[in-house]
Amino acid sequence: CDMGGLDNLVANTAYLKGGDEKEMRKRRRSLSLPKPEQCVSIRATVGKEFEMLCERQPVGKKFFRKFLLESNPQYVAAAEFLDELIDWDLAEGAGKDKSRTNIINKFCKADSKSFLSYLTGEVADKCKAFEDVMMGKVTDATREYLKEKPFTEYQTSPNFDKFLQWKEYEKQKITDKYFHEFRTLGKGGFGEVCAVQVKNSGQMYACKKLCKKRLKQKNGEGMALLEKQILEKVNSLFLVNLSYAYDTKTHLCLVMTLMNGGDLRYHIYNIGEKGLEIGRINYYIAQVTTGILHLHSMDIAYRDMKPENVLLDSFGQCRLSDLGLAVELPGEKTINQKAGTSGYMAPEILKKEPYRMSVDWWALGCSIYEMVAARLPFKDYKEKVQKEEVARRTLEDECKYEHKNFDKGTKAIIDLFLKKKIDERLGCHMFRKNTWKHEWFKSINFLRLEAGLIDPPWVPKPNVVYAKDTGDIKDFSEIKGIVFDDKDDKFFKEFNTGAVPIAWQQEMIDSGLFDELNDPNRKESAPGYDDE
Ligand code: ADP
Ligand code: MG
Ligand code: MG
Repeated sequence: CDMGGLDNLVANTAYLKGGDEKEMRKRRRSLSLPKPEQCVSIRATVGKEFEMLCERQPVGKKFFRKFLLESNPQYVAAAEFLDELIDWDLAEGAGKDKSRTNIINKFCKADSKSFLSYLTGEVADKCKAFEDVMMGKVTDATREYLKEKPFTEYQTSPNFDKFLQWKEYEKQKITDKYFHEFRTLGKGGFGEVCAVQVKNSGQMYACKKLCKKRLKQKNGEGMALLEKQILEKVNSLFLVNLSYAYDTKTHLCLVMTLMNGGDLRYHIYNIGEKGLEIGRINYYIAQVTTGILHLHSMDIAYRDMKPENVLLDSFGQCRLSDLGLAVELPGEKTINQKAGTSGYMAPEILKKEPYRMSVDWWALGCSIYEMVAARLPFKDYKEKVQKEEVARRTLEDECKYEHKNFDKGTKAIIDLFLKKKIDERLGCHMFRKNTWKHEWFKSINFLRLEAGLIDPPWVPKPNVVYAKDTGDIKDFSEIKGIVFDDKDDKFFKEFNTGAVPIAWQQEMIDSGLFDELNDPNRKESAPGYDDE
């Protein structure tokens, strides 16, 4: 093969193989948590909020759980009850009945040693009768119970001290030395996106690099910071999540969930027959809908819904990426700024009317249409047409379904998303989650989907790199005449916040580092590698 092809092959091989195992093990042996005496000041900064400390942060949750299980039988029962209730919620068929019987016998009978004796009044009666609809209230009562004395005691326990050591460790400064860098996966407006691996944990990520000079030249700093701030707020299985933000001399870097199965645009147009099978479309759209609802629940409009921004991971699950156009609209706030991609923009954007979340549901309708027909409702594939004409069609024309693969149900749901009037559009009603209840989604159990328990209909091949060849991803031109001042440095500092707590803690648990560093018998060795 030619040299370019060989370079690509070498880059792919390194990327598919990952870093050197032996080197990683050696590296791990030299790691240690900060000493307790280094963790005094962090106590005041971790906050006092139960949900954040004991439920949302994975490492925090682990230590609170451990504290409960090492305490009295009441605390143990409460902890186990919450876990088993989740299992019951997610179970199906016979497993669900069995799980239900277990819960009743273990927690709801007064003579059982795990009886939830802290429950009082109506909630206690209902628990004994195990009425499904009441279990939410029993859960709430359990959380209320845990929030009081158990939570207070936890904060003065050795388990909390250990949690603080992890919080201190989490604050470590992140530089490019923290990662191995592999091949380029794609190109964005301000730099490339490449695959990276955390040297200590082996975890793979995608690193979106934003060239500082280019940002300054194009006044992109504000946008970059906004994208970072929105990314670090969200945490969903259906959005690329941010794990680190840091900077180098030349770039700002966003380290995110690695999605190596390619984007849906690529799958619609470049693999086999154009368009996707309806089973896949249904599954992807269910996941995408869940991702959009997560953003909307935080008053964030995504504004760039299109197949190109939906990326697949190695299991075939999808997530929304590129939150560069996302905007926070707290409360009833509206916006009338023109934003989005031609062909996916809703009538209210084109008419410069104030809008909120409605634009995402319109774009979702366009995306379903495109997945079936390999063209847009108001723009044919590769059609040379002015944006104004696409806008005119969007505002005036009816959507036509000429492609043979449209079935009745799919047409019906697209029609609902493509209602030109916001009030009539699916997803824009008071009860947003009703979108899930639509006929078209009837085969999907959203609770299980949200827990990542439904197998994908299609799995990417493990030895294929679903990205352009490295040689085909164009380099950036050099930028001259940009110098940075104090204001720029201040902005770079604001961007460089290092590890993002929830995602970083999950990485520590998944990679086994959490267990390794907590092992009381552990003896670390001196560093035996040199790159610092
Ligand atoms: P921009 O906002 O500058 O357009 P994107 O976020 O869209 O940048 O990223 C550019 C390209 O990089 C994408 O089109 C995709 O090919 C690739 N890419 C982005 N994020 C990821 C990811 N998390 N995993 C794998 N590839 C990605
Ligand atoms: Mg993009
Ligand atoms: Mg972008």
